[in-house]
Amino acid sequence: MSARILDGKLIASRVKEEVVAAVAGLDYTPGLATVLVGDDPASHSYVRGKRRDAEQVGIGLFHHELSNTVEQGVLESLIDELNADDDVDGILVQLPLPDGLDAGAIVERIDPLKDVDGLHPFNLGLLALSRPGLRPCTPSGIMRILSEYDIAVSGVKVVVVGRSFLVGRPLALILSEKGVDATVTVAHSRTRDLVAETADADIVVAAVGSPRLITAEHVKPGATVIDVGVSRTDDGLVGDVDFESVVEVAGAITPVPGGVGPMTRAMLLVNTLKAAEGRRG
Ligand code: NAP
Repeated sequence: MSARILDGKLIASRVKEEVVAAVAGLDYTPGLATVLVGDDPASHSYVRGKRRDAEQVGIGLFHHELSNTVEQGVLESLIDELNADDDVDGILVQLPLPDGLDAGAIVERIDPLKDVDGLHPFNLGLLALSRPGLRPCTPSGIMRILSEYDIAVSGVKVVVVGRSFLVGRPLALILSEKGVDATVTVAHSRTRDLVAETADADIVVAAVGSPRLITAEHVKPGATVIDVGVSRTDDGLVGDVDFESVVEVAGAITPVPGGVGPMTRAMLLVNTLKAAEGRRG
């Protein structure tokens, strides 16, 4: 039997409609500043997509492009300007930054109230405390996919493969919150036996960046598989999940592309709206 496909593109379009309706009810235009440093084609493509989305939902855009030789101080001054600009509600610095720039220091310089990526230590701290704040987009997008498809999370065993601050760790925090109530295992490159961890999980989330790492043997029949990974290969964009084999075993699965990616982008719009409402009341 073939798994149900969890259509991230479809859910993302629903989320966008909600944002359009919410923006239409405001007496100001929420503003998103995008900061793109260097000439990495993937980063350019991601930022183009994010700007297109923002335009579609009526969010105002402030775009800044800097060369890959820009000095840390210049980038920090730009962040200071954006922090002080009342028309800017959200600041997105596209990561990774070119070598030689301290991404951590840049993220920490962003006003936490404008941190629409939810990666500032202040916001990650609020998340760790289960308090409201701006939360990272990819984990939020995954939670929305699960909820839209009525996939039970409470009490179930979830294995999150990957422990980055961008995806794996914040997702594990959200899933294990009181009220969400999953039983969460976080696997990583030092996990001794990955199959043993994932094979009895009700939900497997793969956020590794290793093409087709998760195969049918990792997945319990009927389990839900969320593929976060995106690797550019000769075959095009490939996820962390071996879709062809896993789709035959899993109960539900996100495709790559068209699964988690569009939801990450949609949640950036939600966070920009949230930041605007938070700042402007
Ligand atoms: P990352 O910072 O490189 O983290 C990768 C994680 O995978 C690390 O925790 C690493 O363990 C773990 N890992 C590596 N090899 C492993 C293995 N063989 N078995 C188990 N765990 C292993 O990556 P990231 O930023 O989280 O991104 C992960 C992937 O998701 C990438 O492909 C990225 O492009 C993609 N991504 C997609 C979206 C989207 O919207 N679709 C958003 C964000 C990221 P250690 O900690 O031990 O090194």
